Amino acid sequence: MEMPDFWDQEADASLAARDEAAGRLAQLFRQLDSIGNHGAEGYSRFAWSDEEAALRVWFAAQMQRRGFRVEVDAAGNQWAWFGEPSAEHPGVTVGSHMDSVPGGGAFDGPLGVLSAIAAFDVLRENGWTPRCPIGIASFHDEEGARFAVACFGSRVLTGILPADRALARTDADGISVREALDGFAAKLEHVREMQQSGLDCLSDFSEAEIGAAFADSHAPEGQAADLEYLKRSAAHIELHIEQGCMQSDLGAPVAVADAIWPHGRWRVDFEGEPNHAGSTPLDRRHDAMLAFARFVQRVREEAAAAPDARATVGRVEVEPNGVNVIAAHVTCWLDCRAAKAQTVVDIVHRLGAWLAGSDGNGLENSGLKGAGLGGNGLDGVTATLTRESWTEATVFSPELRDALVQAVSAWGDDATADNAKSHGAESGGAQLAAGQSDGVELRGEQFDDAQSDTAHNGDAQSAVEQFREKESANSQAVHSAKDSEPGNLAAAHRTTELAPVIGTAAGHDAGILAESGCAAGMLFVRNETGASHTPREYATLADATQGVYAYAAAIHDCADRVAAGWRPRSVQGER
Ligand SMILES: [Zn+2]
Repeated sequence: MEMPDFWDQEADASLAARDEAAGRLAQLFRQLDSIGNHGAEGYSRFAWSDEEAALRVWFAAQMQRRGFRVEVDAAGNQWAWFGEPSAEHPGVTVGSHMDSVPGGGAFDGPLGVLSAIAAFDVLRENGWTPRCPIGIASFHDEEGARFAVACFGSRVLTGILPADRALARTDADGISVREALDGFAAKLEHVREMQQSGLDCLSDFSEAEIGAAFADSHAPEGQAADLEYLKRSAAHIELHIEQGCMQSDLGAPVAVADAIWPHGRWRVDFEGEPNHAGSTPLDRRHDAMLAFARFVQRVREEAAAAPDARATVGRVEVEPNGVNVIAAHVTCWLDCRAAKAQTVVDIVHRLGAWLAGSDGNGLENSGLKGAGLGGNGLDGVTATLTRESWTEATVFSPELRDALVQAVSAWGDDATADNAKSHGAESGGAQLAAGQSDGVELRGEQFDDAQSDTAHNGDAQSAVEQFREKESANSQAVHSAKDSEPGNLAAAHRTTELAPVIGTAAGHDAGILAESGCAAGMLFVRNETGASHTPREYATLADATQGVYAYAAAIHDCADRVAAGWRPRSVQGER
């Protein structure tokens, strides 16, 4: 079994030895490591495979050992419950997913499930008794690697992906979801055989534990939506490795998410005229490829000039696609996303205006005249811009987001404070105050209307000051309330760091839940490389441990609030 080298690093090994949460998290990762591990090619853990069978049994065994009851919902997601949740007495749920893309990293998904387990352990070992039910979810097929639908399990459960369409999806070999579900018992049987001849991930469990775990790892009979099931949760919190580098830039080991960015996709068709690559003089060409090339450059310039925006041309088709033929027709696809929908609209509007000038009416826009490439703008090439898809921002529950910021900012870990310093940051707050707030929003009054395009405007400096004043008042109240409680980790792990609030441009199960009207929120753990969906994805054990303490703080605080009747509102969808 090859271990990912980060667990072997000296700093992580010494942290694992002296910090119980770190040691526990490292141990959980080690147990899972052999499942779908292809060494330098990363991890591949797909829907209804042997790997998923092993992961499901492992999850059930871990949770049952801790006194949780494990259930499989109508869509195939696994839920472990501590306590008896109902719509009248809902609990707090946490978790993420354990599947991967082909050749994925160790963290995207498992970090959220394993950190939830470690956080629960930390709380229990400190004498905590939850005042409301606690659920830990392992969502099925979040990456959609096999059936090409991301967040498969949460989409089916919420009804966003209708059951009949889910069952009919097929994989690359033509196997349908229906057939994969029917064949899953054989996968479990295979894992049972492997376990009997010694399977790393299950070697820690007794035969009785293994038997009970297999019983709660089955596939569902079919696929069905069950929004009633989700009423067992008053607040759902997913922890995930950041799929980007905002937190590295900020020196923030843990951040709170406010929204998944809105995004859209456009097709651009350039119509030129095919002709001979040798005999056609430059000034008599209608070259669709040249127009396309100028457009790609323009896309980058527009995105770079806009706040918190990404724009990409990643796919292109050329006709006739001959080495010695001037391109007659080029089709490309533009993907554009930003923190604010209006930013995307503005970028695409400007690109459209630029393209409209490229048919010969807007020489000043094309820039080609000055470049001496012809006296006729884009040489008579016409362009059409067509929108193919648009997805609104998914806004997480603002009340839950604020509760998470408060919980996470009040608790911390000394080791992580050292770690943050080693990243060149005194604190997240100092970074923000210094104006390095690119892509980061501060929680506060300016965000009351979370869906408003103007909600993010305002003076960052004064927002930071207001935020700090409020935060200091909040923290004092929280600290004095907590200091007398059992299960209080604040004394050992408190810092004064503020958790920044950031957006994400990637989809998550928590986003699907939010879309369907559940109060959902997210915590992110810093990704050292900023890379995702590759084995290069990387969180230090120090940061991941900070994530565990943040999760513990969030579970503790939210459970107390929910037990007292708190029901954070979702800002979208109906339940
Ligand atoms: Zn993920």
